[in-house]
Amino acid sequence: MNDCLFCKIIAGEIPSAKVYEDEYVYAFRDINPQAPVHVLVVPKEHIACANEITAENSVCVAKIFEAIPKIAAAEGLTNGYRIINCCGEDGGQTVYHLHFHLLGGKKMGESF
Ligand code: AMP
Ligand code: ZN
Repeated sequence: MNDCLFCKIIAGEIPSAKVYEDEYVYAFRDINPQAPVHVLVVPKEHIACANEITAENSVCVAKIFEAIPKIAAAEGLTNGYRIINCCGEDGGQTVYHLHFHLLGGKKMGESF
């Protein structure tokens, strides 16, 4: 996993604007925000993409979805938000460490 950008961010080897951390989850601001609030929520364990989620590692996905409401509240997203996961080439995934985009702070349209 030495070449993984998000593993390096989690390890503190590359700086990030951290907004949340617990035993399973790390969350930080996207470097190229697509909304007033754009946070990436990632498992500390390296999982390449949604296709790599298994019965053995899926606890971190539950922990991510437990963390998201806390992060949203801390970010003031009282009127809702959007969660996006990109998987693989057709999904537009560019960083192959599982992550969920938490977007909010504006009213978003129906298109992706
Ligand atoms: P995806 O296209 O779903 O794989 O999302 C990757 C996201 O990582 C993009 O929204 C990038 O802007 C974001 N990103 C890339 N490098 C960094 C970085 N060093 N710190 C924060 N976000 C990053
Ligand atoms: Zn990784």
